[in-house]
Amino acid sequence: MKKLIVALTGIIYSLTSFSQAPYELPKLNYGYDAFVNNIDKETMQIHYEKHHAGYVSNLNKALEGKKFANLPLEVIVLNATHFDNAIRNNAGGHYNHTMFWTILTPEKNQKPSEKLLSAINNDFGSFESMLEKLNDAASKRFGSGWAWLIVTPDKKLVITSTPNQDNPIMDVEGPRGFPILGIDVWEHAYYLKYQNKRADYLKSIVEIINWEQVSKNYENALANPFLKEIEKDSWKELNDFHEIMAITFHSAEKGNFEPIRTRHMELAEKATALKQGTIPASFNNEAVKNAIEKLEKETQKMCKIASGKKVTDKQLMEQLEIVHKAFHDLSGSCEH
Ligand code: MN
Repeated sequence: MKKLIVALTGIIYSLTSFSQAPYELPKLNYGYDAFVNNIDKETMQIHYEKHHAGYVSNLNKALEGKKFANLPLEVIVLNATHFDNAIRNNAGGHYNHTMFWTILTPEKNQKPSEKLLSAINNDFGSFESMLEKLNDAASKRFGSGWAWLIVTPDKKLVITSTPNQDNPIMDVEGPRGFPILGIDVWEHAYYLKYQNKRADYLKSIVEIINWEQVSKNYENALANPFLKEIEKDSWKELNDFHEIMAITFHSAEKGNFEPIRTRHMELAEKATALKQGTIPASFNNEAVKNAIEKLEKETQKMCKIASGKKVTDKQLMEQLEIVHKAFHDLSGSCEH
């Protein structure tokens, strides 16, 4: 966990406006009776005062006394699988509902901004066909979960859905991206008025979507630093290298040189795979290419040294430090 926090420091510094623990229930911009023809007053009240409030207080409880209790909510969500389930579920629940309230409006049948509409037309053919896909994702989500309209790291709009209180920012099976619209399909969102008829609820809720807000979310998502983090997460060759680097380097730091003595070939192979693999678009620049080049060279050298018959731990450590620094130079190049 300490390593994770260190890795996240850079991104946290660049995000000062995000909410931090102890988390609070956000204020609603309308009354519980704002949507009576679409969502009844009692459902709104219970959903907000019991369910959402429950996620907030359980999240605060789960974080109590933890070193990472002050992380912005988005950082917890982005790294959800690194935390225990209580934190993952309640952070997701808080994040998802906070967005959900803002994308509803009593002003019926709004339309997206010109820019968002043109992106929708590009990626789905038409507004109607996007709504159909959204409806489909929401209907087919088995059990409890959410349906989403997201912006992916390559700036495309995609419809997806997630179980429970997960969301597409999380480091779980993708498509991953930044959500600009989320529909709650937990029964608690509709059961009192619609009972088991999720389809009727879905048909009704699209009438009260706050497209003005979703259009703002779209603009914000395009510039969101988390998109780049998500893209970096999906860089398989980088992750593969990181894994073996961490095992060999951190063991050596603790005086155990067995991993580097036996796995140096693997380290070099992963570096070569990184060099030959496709660099994700946002990182495809000269600085990153040079850093990969350097890393590969140094891992080859590592191999040569580690294959030597009388190589000492000190010699191994010296070159490992160089490889480790080359990796961090590469990681650093990805931040800019
Ligand atoms: Mn809900």
